[in-house]
Amino acid sequence: MNCEILAVGTELLLGNTVNTNAADLSGLLSGLGINVFWHTVVGDNPKRLAEAVAIARSRADLIITTGGLGPTYDDLTKNVLAESFGRKLELHPEEAAFLKEWFARNATSKYTDNNLQQAYLPERCTVFHNDWGTAPGCAFEEGGVHVIMLPGPPRECLPMFKACAVPYLKKLSGDVIFSRQIMVFGMGESAIESLFRTEMEHMANPTLATYAKFGEVMLRVTAKAPTEAEAEAMCEPVVEKVRAVLGDKAYAVDIPNMETLGLRLLKEQGRTFSAAESLTGGLIGERFTALSGASAVYKGGAVTYCDEVKAAMLGIDPALIAQNGAVSFATAAAMAKGVRLAARTDIGLSATGLAGPDGDGVHPVGTVFVGLADGENVWVRELHLGTGRARVRQLAANHAFDMLRRYLQGLDVVPEQYVPAGK
Ligand code: AMP
Ligand code: MG
Repeated sequence: MNCEILAVGTELLLGNTVNTNAADLSGLLSGLGINVFWHTVVGDNPKRLAEAVAIARSRADLIITTGGLGPTYDDLTKNVLAESFGRKLELHPEEAAFLKEWFARNATSKYTDNNLQQAYLPERCTVFHNDWGTAPGCAFEEGGVHVIMLPGPPRECLPMFKACAVPYLKKLSGDVIFSRQIMVFGMGESAIESLFRTEMEHMANPTLATYAKFGEVMLRVTAKAPTEAEAEAMCEPVVEKVRAVLGDKAYAVDIPNMETLGLRLLKEQGRTFSAAESLTGGLIGERFTALSGASAVYKGGAVTYCDEVKAAMLGIDPALIAQNGAVSFATAAAMAKGVRLAARTDIGLSATGLAGPDGDGVHPVGTVFVGLADGENVWVRELHLGTGRARVRQLAANHAFDMLRRYLQGLDVVPEQYVPAGK
């Protein structure tokens, strides 16, 4: 099934709002095995919207619109789509009743007559009731083309897609789509793709695709079959093969990121960690504490930005920093050891480096040392992460989490490619 996402809203064309719905829906649709071939954005203008619909129906089997379902005069998506597909709009009394109740319950909003517009939907459609706002969505099929209309606000659009559109789409195909995500760190997308290119080109069911995420790569294996168990069984050999080829760079399957894996492993092993952060300025702690349940294993951290604070808070000899510099193997090692002792955790992480754009006259921008200490050993990676302040900081945090998960998985904490020069 080939899909076009048609986002409606002048604010999107003016650049006031980023079209996140298209990106988020595309991700969800690819998980369902539906090809999204076009993203179109059109303003709140009936003529141009009708033109866009005419183009979309000539090339797509599925048109998903977002936006323009609300109560105001510029909300015209339903009118235009209904007219384009030769359907009347009809009042849905249960949606009208819901709207009146909703306004009665929400003391801050006053019911005005234009709200009733939201309860008009194309005749013979499947109504998608809106549990997250007021405007319902809907779906219908005409001449072999399926149309799904969703509200614009992402906090309504995405849950409605999951709760209403996904079951609708699953029923259409009859088959179940199942996918597995293999997460990879330490290898670029093109290098991974070149390993699997021939297979990827010849695979039809299951399929294998690569997606570059920030500093990592996700490989998605998707199979279609009459039952979930069959689809899952079809994915399994591909997952095994990919993992065998990528080795320990493939860090997990169906886990969203390395910090989540770290949390799981720390809990299983009953271990704790802390982090001393210089260039990351608290990012390691921020990303980890975004996970629920973090408090069981993360005891805290120290943002030690200048040399004096590194020495004072982490108990590092100021002479060590003076001799080696703040951006050094020795300082990263001392920070990891120091925070581990100060926070009384099993493991201490550290990150020190140059996020740029200003250099220190010694190291190139992007030089970063990331450390991990346990009671016996300390490991340090030397990294050259390139430029872009935000990017370098996030990548440094990624490496800290990669060291943590490799340590907990019993792998070498500093693979060959990150061994500091001369060590
Ligand atoms: P509407 O449903 O057209 O009234 O849209 C309501 C609000 O949802 C807009 O003001 C935007 O803030 C947001 N919105 C609409 N379309 C999108 C989109 N494609 N991506 C992200 N946000 C959107
Ligand atoms: Mg709008």
